[in-house]
Amino acid sequence: IVKNFAPAAKKKGLSISSKMASSTDCYITCDLFRLRQIIDNLLGNAIKFTDKGDVSLSANIIGSSLNLIIKDSGRGISQEEQEVIFEEFARLKNATGIEGSGLGLSIVSKITNLMGGEISLSSSPDKGTSFFVTIPIEIVEEPNIDSSQHDDIEPQPANTLISHSILKIVIVDDDPIQLKY
Ligand code: ADP
Repeated sequence: IVKNFAPAAKKKGLSISSKMASSTDCYITCDLFRLRQIIDNLLGNAIKFTDKGDVSLSANIIGSSLNLIIKDSGRGISQEEQEVIFEEFARLKNATGIEGSGLGLSIVSKITNLMGGEISLSSSPDKGTSFFVTIPIEIVEEPNIDSSQHDDIEPQPANTLISHSILKIVIVDDDPIQLKY
């Protein structure tokens, strides 16, 4: 995920890094699509609302909790604005002139809660923001890939499909960062 965001960070002259604790060197079960959606959204915001400095993603696992910190050195959020930040369509003064819908954080907070997790933040205006996300996970010995379920599907070489124009993909988005992907 951090690699995906590197071009957007570079364009703004920001450094971007990830710190994965050794506790994350394992297999987990979790809704990875949703987990990715949470991190994508928070890292996207971190870059969007940071004009200089750095953004980072840190992760560790304690017991059955995956703990994430998405940190930036950006515009920051005042104490009273932090009260409304997870509400739908909330856009703060710091978002003036920056594209967005004000829906990202409300979706992130709903997904986190539906996954049984928690989200909180610590921020100071002009100093930066850290979002803390805790998601319950289960550590497993081996990845559980049940190949027997896919036995009836005949694999097709993707390049043959594309060269015969059978496979057409249209990707639509109004967010320049997403379009860049
Ligand atoms: P959007 O990014 O589309 O404006 P979000 O729901 O993701 O909507 O965020 C709501 C508002 O919270 C943003 O408009 C911005 O004012 C503020 N915000 C979100 N993330 C950050 C951040 N990392 N630093 C400063 N402000 C932020």
